[in-house]
Amino acid sequence: MKNNKIKLQYLIIGVALLAFILTSIVSIWSGYKLNKANLGESAMVTNRVYAQKVAETANNYLAEQQKILKVNAKYIAERIDDQSYLEKHADFIRNQTSAFNSIAIVNKKAVVLATSPQSLDLVGVKLTAEATKKAIKEQKPMISQPYTSVSGRLIVFVTTPIFSEKNEYLGLIGGTIYLKEKNILYKLLGAHPYDGQSTVYVVDRDGTIIYDERKKNIARDLPDNDIINMAIHKKTTGVVKGENTENQIAFAGYAHVKNADWMVIAQRPASAVEAPAKQLFKQMFLIALPFLAISLIIVIFLSYRIAKPLQRLAQLTESSKLNDEENNFRSVQAWYYEVIQLKEALIQSFSHLHEQVLELTGKSERDGLTGLYNRRTLDDRLMSWTKEQKSYAVIMFDVDHFKNVNDTYGHDVGDEVLRFIAAAMLQHVRTTDSCYRFGGEEFVILLPGASVDVAYERAEELRQYFEQTNSPTSLPIHISAGVAECPNDGVEGNGVLKKADQLLYEAKQNGRNQVRKSN
Ligand code: GH3
Ligand code: MG
Ligand code: MG
Repeated sequence: MKNNKIKLQYLIIGVALLAFILTSIVSIWSGYKLNKANLGESAMVTNRVYAQKVAETANNYLAEQQKILKVNAKYIAERIDDQSYLEKHADFIRNQTSAFNSIAIVNKKAVVLATSPQSLDLVGVKLTAEATKKAIKEQKPMISQPYTSVSGRLIVFVTTPIFSEKNEYLGLIGGTIYLKEKNILYKLLGAHPYDGQSTVYVVDRDGTIIYDERKKNIARDLPDNDIINMAIHKKTTGVVKGENTENQIAFAGYAHVKNADWMVIAQRPASAVEAPAKQLFKQMFLIALPFLAISLIIVIFLSYRIAKPLQRLAQLTESSKLNDEENNFRSVQAWYYEVIQLKEALIQSFSHLHEQVLELTGKSERDGLTGLYNRRTLDDRLMSWTKEQKSYAVIMFDVDHFKNVNDTYGHDVGDEVLRFIAAAMLQHVRTTDSCYRFGGEEFVILLPGASVDVAYERAEELRQYFEQTNSPTSLPIHISAGVAECPNDGVEGNGVLKKADQLLYEAKQNGRNQVRKSN
């Protein structure tokens, strides 16, 4: 029966384990989440700071190059018709700045006057690109959007106007950056101190990529890219989390290059950013493991201690045969409230049951109401003492007018008075003496080895005690007693009892509340 039911010990272990595991999961998981969020946040800030720095550098650099072109424009204006001078000067500018892949000097009709390198073979060619037209029309320094030049390259054209001394517009000097070849942007951006997972790229004002380490991305237009869209929309410095050029979620920072109206974007994929959080998550888990093991041992020990007394009580109840139950139950170590209560209740009900069974089967030694020995025990003991020829004294007493107690206070109070008497008897006798309920409201005390005088004294003490003490009726009771001894008053128990009863009768006759002894 006990094997197919869940045991309390396992229940406790299960609940404790569950609580531990849930707590661990919640704390580790929230730690992981928090850590991840912090990492994302700081990755975005780092990227923003980096993009800002790169944008500033690019901005200053472009401004510098335009300044150089402007200074040179003055010299060119003076000798605009000197073809060989123009060619040499174009070479000079290209070498001087090293910012441009090529230099072109163009007149106000957009016809090329000179180039460096001359191998471009464009002298006399009329440039038709929108960027050139616009620069000539506006007569202002400009940086073009990327476009495909007459030589078939994807370029950005940085121009500055040429004015004569009389402020007459003569044309422009343009520096080209070949976007798909080694160019100044690589020098500016290529050596960023990031590991392989991070990328930096530059988009023009429409979001077209004009610089990216991964060349395949150059000139790519990604109209749906969250990060690029956010950057070109804001045209300032900021951070964004979104899908990157490789369709991964990434943390990005961006910054505006004012002179060219480009955006520099630095980004790092979320998977790389959050990798340390995952590592930390694993470490936290590993650190928690030994604690889990220790907790498990403690839990098993405690659950064993908690469950053991209950288990023991359960076993005893199951195997109870009404023999010696009380002692068995007493041996259970109850150390907490519920078990203590349960143990006491079981002991009480078992001993009560035990008494009742004994009574029913005629084997009881004791009287059920007072707990004193009963008349059968008295008879047995006297019989064996007779055999042993033991000397002893007997006190027999009867409560005076006990009927009145029952009549006045009821039978329950009468019972209580009987128990009160029994307790008083036990208090007044020596350990070798024994107390019996002889019947109704009659009691006997056996005093082995005592003389009738000693027994008389004891009986008198008891009588006086009752006379002076309030019983459960709130009034004292009176007793009448007869005292006899063996062998003087009879060699057999019955004879001695008879003598005591006779003396008791005399005491009643003589006015009650007194003790009579044999001579
Ligand atoms: P006295 O002995 O002084 O002559 O008067 P008494 O009233 O004590 O005498 P009696 O023998 O007439 O009455 C004894 C009463 O004791 C009668 C009975 O109801 C009561 N009695 C006997 N056994 C019990 C018991 O177990 N419980 C209660 N409450 N009363 C009991
Ligand atoms: Mg009586
Ligand atoms: Mg009586």
